[in-house]
Amino acid sequence: MDIEQFRKAGYQAIDRICDYYYSLQNRPVISKVEPGYLKQHLPLTAPEKGEDFQVIADDYQKFIVPGLTHWQHPSFFGYFPTACTFEGIIAELYATSTSNPGFNWTSSPACTELEALVMDWAAQLLGLSAAFLNSSGIGGGSLQTTASDSALISVVAARSLYQQTHPDAKLEDLVIYTTTQTHSLGLKAGLVLGLSVRALEVKSEDRFSLKGETLRIALEEDEKQGKKPFILIATVGTTSSGAIDNLPEIKAVVKDHPSLWIHVDAAWAGVAMSCPENREKCFLNEINEFANSFCTNFHKWGLVNFDASTLWVRNRKHLTDALDVTPPFLRSTHGDAGTVIDYRNWHLALGRRFRSLKLWFVLRSFGAEGFRAYIRRTIALNQQFADFIATSDILSLVTPPSLALSVFRIEPKRNSPDQVALSTESLNSLNRLFYGRISARDDILLTQTVLNGVHCIRFAVGAARTESSHIQAACDLLHTEAKLAIEAWEPTTTEDSK
Ligand SMILES: *Cc1c(COP(=O)(O)O)cnc(C)c1O
Repeated sequence: MDIEQFRKAGYQAIDRICDYYYSLQNRPVISKVEPGYLKQHLPLTAPEKGEDFQVIADDYQKFIVPGLTHWQHPSFFGYFPTACTFEGIIAELYATSTSNPGFNWTSSPACTELEALVMDWAAQLLGLSAAFLNSSGIGGGSLQTTASDSALISVVAARSLYQQTHPDAKLEDLVIYTTTQTHSLGLKAGLVLGLSVRALEVKSEDRFSLKGETLRIALEEDEKQGKKPFILIATVGTTSSGAIDNLPEIKAVVKDHPSLWIHVDAAWAGVAMSCPENREKCFLNEINEFANSFCTNFHKWGLVNFDASTLWVRNRKHLTDALDVTPPFLRSTHGDAGTVIDYRNWHLALGRRFRSLKLWFVLRSFGAEGFRAYIRRTIALNQQFADFIATSDILSLVTPPSLALSVFRIEPKRNSPDQVALSTESLNSLNRLFYGRISARDDILLTQTVLNGVHCIRFAVGAARTESSHIQAACDLLHTEAKLAIEAWEPTTTEDSK
């Protein structure tokens, strides 16, 4: 493909992307292809002779699009949203157009300098303290691939710091603390690093939030046995239910255990702190006071296309002490002089994608005001959903709505005290049937979860095209499916009263 052929193919690609967005609403949300579908259409080896690009571009429409689940569909309420804006798409195009591994300042000064700047913009948008800014020269922020990478890097930094300050500690005694509601990133960090992980219990009556007392007891137990808990991965906005660990209580415990690194994983909820009214419930003050590292994904609910996980640390030296390897061929005058950031020492790989361009385009085009308006709009849409559940006689919220997430299930309201309540087991089997009905549909997508043994369904709002009418349609559909599930349900276990 030469430059002029690229011009033509590029215009066509943009046209087709626009058509895709116009048609999105009328497509099924979920791809219904069977496993292995693509093998029936594509050869098993790459072609020997180059093909005409128009044929390739048409095959994308013919074979790939039918196998896509449409995360930008207005009736996509599953998992968490994955942001996609046209500003982000254009930024990706520019970023890939120079295909630049930006591993240190010299390799492309703009990559390092833009990242350092927009990470400060983003920190200020969320209300993070000046200690986390790159301009502080001590703390700082960088863009990572995912929240899992951000957590892994934080654990690596925390481990290295702990070993420096506790030279006698044995690796096999180190323990990573999570809760039973922490994302799998905690376990994965343990697996990758060969470290043990202890998941602390959380209770439904505490809305699945980690209490200070639970942490204190665990620390005392483990320390008595010679174990060395060195990091807690706390969560602001858990994946299952949007729970927020009790950072004020945790802060009080950490006072007596100052070598415990606190990583706050706010992969989904963190961007909500752009709105001042959400800061208290997300414990921004505590994050600013004592978190060692903080992560949120702008690629979830933050309008920046995947991937754009933002990680801030209070002390960049803890990252570079753990991750700096400088062979002679990577040495540079500015790097040696310490006058520039060498981002390669802030993550695991050498090369890094030019992600800051996306954040820059999006934050400029929306402005802080537009960004906050989007967050507020999606929270209001979730409130519309939660209000519907509150008035339903067969559906109930399992936990109070958290920002733009509601967790609910079928739980018929009792009209009189002598009406028999269903056991947890019966309700779980009824709700599995209910979820089976919802997931068999292709016009809506929701995902399920289990909270301390209770089977429930998640409703996460955030796709940029979701409007009030789509929420209303979802409410109607869920009400109908719930009634049909109740009619079709035959209890497999004996019903008993609670
Ligand atoms: C989605 C999510 C993650 C994982 O995100 P990745 O960026 O895909 O690793 C981690 N923590 C929480 C709370 C999440 O919601």
